[in-house]
Amino acid sequence: MDNNIAERLNSAYRQLAEIKQKNPSVRADAQLIAVSKTKPISLITEAYLAGQRQFGENYVQELVDKASELAELTDLEWHFIGPIQSNKTRDIAKFAGWVHSIDRLKIAERLSAQRPAGMSALKVLIQVNISDEASKAGIAAAEVLPFAAKVAALPNLELAGLMAIPAPAVDNDNSQAFAAMQALSVQLQQLFPQARALSMGMSDDWQQALTFGATMIRLGTAIFGAREPQPHE
Ligand SMILES: *Cc1c(COP(=O)(O)O)cnc(C)c1O
Repeated sequence: MDNNIAERLNSAYRQLAEIKQKNPSVRADAQLIAVSKTKPISLITEAYLAGQRQFGENYVQELVDKASELAELTDLEWHFIGPIQSNKTRDIAKFAGWVHSIDRLKIAERLSAQRPAGMSALKVLIQVNISDEASKAGIAAAEVLPFAAKVAALPNLELAGLMAIPAPAVDNDNSQAFAAMQALSVQLQQLFPQARALSMGMSDDWQQALTFGATMIRLGTAIFGAREPQPHE
């Protein structure tokens, strides 16, 4: 797998640059988050050495272990993108720079209260259940603005934008969900101009997500290869 990670990163960044150049509506500040969940530290280091600085993790214990071990890489930034249980917020508040999966006020309040003194505000994205799936995380689109106002009022959080994981779509065509997120993001920024981040697009649909204004694409398989099924996945 050695050279593969650098090559896959290079290829993804090359495609990203091309898409930005060809399509003026794609956000120039769009960035790639390398989703390293279930992958060992050695592969994260490999990606780091290839220039990658933003990493995404889904499981709190993995975040704690990896962030602790790589603490000397001070320009490496951790994005927590998984479901959050309230007894795990302290570790997330300590190790993450960004949290993409905020969908309960209680969790947001705990993260704000537990953000260690001296650290910058934790940047948070509100997760939206954009495909309106009964079993899925995220809050309903209609509730995003009132919820955002409550999150924005918390002292140690910075409301940075929105995140979504659309339901699996035929032919990976998520245009409807992505368009709805783009519209919601525009609405949110009318109230909170700094909340410009739009986290959407994964290995199978990131090119499309970019054309709907994604600013953070979250790539796991495309960078690190297929994952072993996890007991908790
Ligand atoms: C696992 C995961 C990803 C990466 O998925 P790939 O399809 O492997 O790119 C992105 N976002 C979230 C929230 C995830 O859980």
